[in-house]
Amino acid sequence: MREYVMALDQGTTSSRCIIFDKKGKIISKEQKEFEQIYPSPGWIEHNPMEIWSSQLGVAMEALLKAGLSYRDIDSIGITNQRETTIIWNKETGLPIYNAIVWQCRRTAPIIEKLIKDGYKDYVIKTTGLIPDAYFSASKIAWILDNVANARELANEGKLIFGTVDSWLVWNLTKGRVHVTDYTNASRTMLYDIHKLDWDDKLLEYFNIPRSMLPEVKPSSCLFGYSDTTVLGGEVPICGIAGDQQAALFGQCCFEEGEAKNTYGTGCFLLLNTGNKAIESKHGLVTTIAASLDKNDINYALEGSVFIAGASIQWLRDGLRMLKNASQSEDYTKSISDTEGVYFVPAFTGLGAPYWDPYARGTIVGLTRGCKKEHFIRATLEAIDYQVYDVLAAMKEDACCDLVSLKVDGGACANNFLMQFEADILNVEVHRPSCIETTALGAAYLAGLCTKYWKNKEDIKNNWELSKNFIPNMTCTEREKLLKGWKRAVKCARAWGEDDE
Ligand code: ADP
Repeated sequence: MREYVMALDQGTTSSRCIIFDKKGKIISKEQKEFEQIYPSPGWIEHNPMEIWSSQLGVAMEALLKAGLSYRDIDSIGITNQRETTIIWNKETGLPIYNAIVWQCRRTAPIIEKLIKDGYKDYVIKTTGLIPDAYFSASKIAWILDNVANARELANEGKLIFGTVDSWLVWNLTKGRVHVTDYTNASRTMLYDIHKLDWDDKLLEYFNIPRSMLPEVKPSSCLFGYSDTTVLGGEVPICGIAGDQQAALFGQCCFEEGEAKNTYGTGCFLLLNTGNKAIESKHGLVTTIAASLDKNDINYALEGSVFIAGASIQWLRDGLRMLKNASQSEDYTKSISDTEGVYFVPAFTGLGAPYWDPYARGTIVGLTRGCKKEHFIRATLEAIDYQVYDVLAAMKEDACCDLVSLKVDGGACANNFLMQFEADILNVEVHRPSCIETTALGAAYLAGLCTKYWKNKEDIKNNWELSKNFIPNMTCTEREKLLKGWKRAVKCARAWGEDDE
């Protein structure tokens, strides 16, 4: 009996496999970290073979641990770190270079040139993205320009490109299938998110042959079957979505106006905008959300905060103020506010809606009475304020008011963080009992295709609330606090100003 669905969750620091049952409960889970390669400052790579071997390893271990085999698995769903770029030879199946990871900044000069060449508006209009080295396009161009013979091989049709989902499917099917889904394609900066096709003008600009690109399909459809030599027998691969879009789906944000925020290293806030691709006026990107049908495409607005949970790690490892991240909540209990202290963790500049690469971490409002507790609380509050800024931008772009926000990610376990978020946003914050929403989203996409789950309603019944945080702050108090935050952000941004 094929009673379970397998989710392969290929993240930036680890590969995970989670096996779910029909209720969306976790039956088995395995995780393996892999090497981060830093060839020069600001450069980050992964070994594609290690991505594949760690992913296959955890899939086998998750099956074994639960006493299952491929015969128990209805279907496979894949979710992945987005934008990370792999190019391999389709005859040998071997990568010609390491995977260039989304965080890698090596191609910043290529993007500067793109902007100088007048392509900024075109990129925004066509791909929904703000031109940046973060997306795949410039990474593909870099590999083709810097690996010996790569251009020739590409022109001969021997090389192919994929984001991590494509690479996994290629290996699962032993080189029979070269595909991706709309969500991943929409992060390459080569895909026209309105026409649903690779864009010839951008392909030409980056000198990338169309023959290298995968076929793009809806997030829930039959992509192929795992080869018998891989898991022991054939299992249909029926779901693919990039991690943030998978989480939006796993949170059951199926309707226009529904949003989720993931509190991890950074924060990723996604708002489902239905069939409308809204162009942001406030520094957000427009992206394709997990869609089941090419005639019914769902779009989302996305805003990212660079430093969220990472600031708590810094308190722990850099300042040694905490033994572990969850202790931060205990420190908030003995004080009722920060006594006017604000911390802006702009360690690497500020993301949406500011996009200020020159801002730097800033602490303001110190008085002689300031204690460690105030500093820790200010750090947690800063995560919430940053989410407030992104959400305010979203509300203006989408002209809608949010009534509730669904949350996930490691830091959403912190009750203080969630209550202060509800207070400052003045919306209810809903924390589900399963916070593995990324993997769950991939599983749902696969199981919807095979009718393991009948429809979205069937899935919605699985969403279970663990805790609801209700706003409990006066308007005057909120406005006073936000005014202080805005002043603190101004100070953080003033650091980058050239006063000569
Ligand atoms: P990622 O997937 O980005 O690696 P996770 O979703 O695993 O991140 O969340 C880990 C992050 O959340 C870390 O940066 C950690 O500091 C933070 N974190 C984890 N637990 C808590 C907590 N209880 N309070 C505050 N921050 C936390």
